[in-house]
Amino acid sequence: MPLPPLVGHADTRRRLAEGFRSGTLPQVVLVTGPRGIGKQRLALWLGQLVLCERPGADPCGACRACRQVGGLAHPDLHWFVPILRPKAGEPAKQIEEAAEALAAVMAERRKQPLYSQPDGMAIHPIASVRLLQQQAGLTAVEGGWRVFIIGDAERLVPQESSQEAANAMLKLLEEPPPRSLFVLTTADPRHVLPTIRSRTAPIRLNRLADADVREFLLRNSAEKPSPDRLEAEVSAAAGAIGLVAGTDEEESGKAFRAAAQLLEAVMAGRGTVLERALRQTPYSARGEFTAMLDALADTLGDAARGSLGHATTRPVPEGLRKHRDPAALLRAIELVGETREAAAGNVNPQLLLAVLGGELAEVL
Ligand SMILES: [Zn+2]
Repeated sequence: MPLPPLVGHADTRRRLAEGFRSGTLPQVVLVTGPRGIGKQRLALWLGQLVLCERPGADPCGACRACRQVGGLAHPDLHWFVPILRPKAGEPAKQIEEAAEALAAVMAERRKQPLYSQPDGMAIHPIASVRLLQQQAGLTAVEGGWRVFIIGDAERLVPQESSQEAANAMLKLLEEPPPRSLFVLTTADPRHVLPTIRSRTAPIRLNRLADADVREFLLRNSAEKPSPDRLEAEVSAAAGAIGLVAGTDEEESGKAFRAAAQLLEAVMAGRGTVLERALRQTPYSARGEFTAMLDALADTLGDAARGSLGHATTRPVPEGLRKHRDPAALLRAIELVGETREAAAGNVNPQLLLAVLGGELAEVL
């Protein structure tokens, strides 16, 4: 199944195509903007543009290179997505494991190009960085450009364990080989390592217009949605197609329900939240826990928007609907972010949740 077409972002596309034509396109860019608005899809579009045999204002879409990119099968386009940390001990084996994990994700995306958020525990491990370095050191298979896309670049972890690999990565971004393009994407630029961020040219994408979302849903839904359902989805997307297309509704619904329950307990008071956290059934997978934390941050973000009188992406839990202190809500989001970082370590999720609940009860 080929990639669904890129919709919207017309001005950015025009600027990028113009930059490529005139030879002023930066070789290392960081695409930022809210989750689900098509940052990685734009990165793929850009890859297609530089690899296309007859590029114009857009990639032609018909040449061999364009079709290969559309099928995620171009030998000079390398798409790095977060994966689970390889288990092997040997660096060479780790690289093999990372390559296999990435190939498995790509095989999955060829079948279903609309994908959901990566597992909460997935990162760009050092093995992926080493793999990228290996690939960047080779010449292009087709003799033209080479494109490296690094999605969710905030998950490039600090590489204390291998300063050498980290430095090689930074050098690569500072002096990219001729005719190579690095496109990093993130919804969270503040959490991209500063040493990496400072070596990139920023490209900021905005939310899509409702008309673009509507057109996309009409063209890419398996069955034609009813007008009511379509409008509900357009409104739920709030300019971010990824929030309604390709997400695993059951999983994400579960995370949002758990987040809402926790927030209701927080609003009911400290005692309730501690009791609840202790009664909470253990999280069987860390990914489930981090998905709940992400849902919690999203819900608090919505509550902050609501408190300022703006439209929210999802309904805000009852107890938070009348909250009128956006600063407190933003502080709560920060606390969730800190817990999310701690969750990457070996701390017990129940314990983290009990502490977070107490902290939230204090600030909210
Ligand atoms: Zn083409």
